[in-house]
Amino acid sequence: ERIISGEADLQDLSFEQSLRPQTLKQYIGQDKVKENLEIFIKAARIREETLDHVLLYGPPGLGKTTLAAIIANEMGVNIRTTAGPAIERPGDLAAILTALEPGDVLFIDEIHRLPRSIEEVLYPAMEDFCLDIVIGKGPSARSVRLDLPPFTLVGATTRAGSLSAPLRDRFGVLSRLEYYSEEQLTDIVVRTAEVLDTGIDPKAAIEVARRSRGTPRIANRLLRRVRDFAQVKADGQIGETLAKEALELLQVDRLGLDHIDHKLLRGIIEKFRGGPVGLETIAATIGEEAHTIEDVYEPYLLQIGFLQRTPRGRIVTGLVYRHFQMEVPAD
Ligand code: ADP
Repeated sequence: ERIISGEADLQDLSFEQSLRPQTLKQYIGQDKVKENLEIFIKAARIREETLDHVLLYGPPGLGKTTLAAIIANEMGVNIRTTAGPAIERPGDLAAILTALEPGDVLFIDEIHRLPRSIEEVLYPAMEDFCLDIVIGKGPSARSVRLDLPPFTLVGATTRAGSLSAPLRDRFGVLSRLEYYSEEQLTDIVVRTAEVLDTGIDPKAAIEVARRSRGTPRIANRLLRRVRDFAQVKADGQIGETLAKEALELLQVDRLGLDHIDHKLLRGIIEKFRGGPVGLETIAATIGEEAHTIEDVYEPYLLQIGFLQRTPRGRIVTGLVYRHFQMEVPAD
């Protein structure tokens, strides 16, 4: 398990539950997304209608699940949560939909992983709040239409591109979550420390934020580890020096890169003179699957400008040489 992975691990689950902000006001950053949602929510409430279906997309750990719960909370309705891979048959979806109360939010995480046959059940549900179900088999089979309570579907996905166009088109609100700035992550770390009733020096909060790869989940996870360290090695207070020491032990460098990032970047420098080199070749060299590199390792390295995608393959930039205190090649 990589400590700097945006994906939730088992330890995160219960811990995160207690840290989730409950209102748009408490939700830090993502100002554009919040501003839009605030208007749509207000308008829906004035009209006493359900909120339009919302699609949230962006890398893992940026706050999609949290935002779905906030939407329900701000609308004053309940939320039902499921995930694309958990819905295997049309009947599974029908059971969930028919159990909703009017106005409820249905949150489907990883919605790009819904089987196509289920998507088709979802279209009339989203559009007309009804289900077409087939009763019986063979020549006596007939289709009946079932009315559903009006509801808001909130879908979350890390890959908006893998959503089918007809499904994507049925969302009224499409919001893309962005990586957080260091300042925003510092605010999140300070807020989490408050919730955990832990004292933290503002400079220590910045140290944690800086290594969090723009991702609140990672910030909270690093903070939790640093807090353990502070409780064992000190009086529980998180000072700057202690935070740096703890983060050093966790082997997360000052940009949030770990040994796997180092292996990838050094591999391209040492074996391919910095690139360009194709994804498949990199994958073979460091013994990882190409799609893992593309989905998990690369996005942050691209984001901070350490890697560039070119038609001829990936290249590392001068920033990487400087980060490793290596001489930047002339070309
Ligand atoms: P995702 O669903 O995108 O993977 P989550 O909503 O589960 O991400 O968020 C991961 C963790 O980060 C949660 O514990 C949540 O408390 C925290 N978090 C996410 N976004 C924010 C935010 N904007 N402000 C404060 N905490 C946040």
